[in-house]
Amino acid sequence: MKKTSSLRNIANLCVFCGSSEGRNPLYMQAAHTLAIEMANRRINLVYGGGGAGIMGKLSSTLRHLPVSVVGIIPDRIYEMVRHLDHAEDELIVVGTMHERKGAMYERSDAFVALPGGIGTLEELMEALTWLQLGYHEKPVGILNTAGFFDPLIAMLHHMVDEGFLRMNMLESLVVESEPKALLDSLERIDLTIPQKIST
Ligand code: AMP
Repeated sequence: MKKTSSLRNIANLCVFCGSSEGRNPLYMQAAHTLAIEMANRRINLVYGGGGAGIMGKLSSTLRHLPVSVVGIIPDRIYEMVRHLDHAEDELIVVGTMHERKGAMYERSDAFVALPGGIGTLEELMEALTWLQLGYHEKPVGILNTAGFFDPLIAMLHHMVDEGFLRMNMLESLVVESEPKALLDSLERIDLTIPQKIST
């Protein structure tokens, strides 16, 4: 990871994570620790809304802390989860998944993924792809709790080895196993990477 000399201000952090709890209790614990660390730094949460799984752990921990929680959820999903406990200060109900992504990107200064399923993976990969193509210049990171993302990181290295991904792009992805280190690295990473435009 290349480091900048100046610190980036992260006021709003977009978190992608599982709508399930996962098997290892460390995943839920890490979400709790990240929430406390965000509150210490006055970083607001932007996330997919709702109280399920790791998403719910994060938002319910932040509910009683002095930061704001913004949930952005498509109306179809909202209808399915509205009966659950909600911890948002602001819940934005949008029409489509694309509108949701647009609003999440607009309102955030950085993106991180915590352990999750295909929804989390899709959101993480899109944020990274958009960085690669220059659609945003916001840091993207992974909280690699208990090595959850090791197989994905191995796959990304395989893409580099096979000539499909640039090493400097992979180096721009922040990977840390502890929440405090993750937030420190997001503030410090140098994102002056050449864009990938294949011609
Ligand atoms: P997954 O990792 O497959 O559990 O999907 C989690 C990601 O997809 C989250 O970051 C959300 O943005 C979105 N998502 C999936 N399920 C829900 C749900 N029940 N409520 C809100 N967002 C969800």
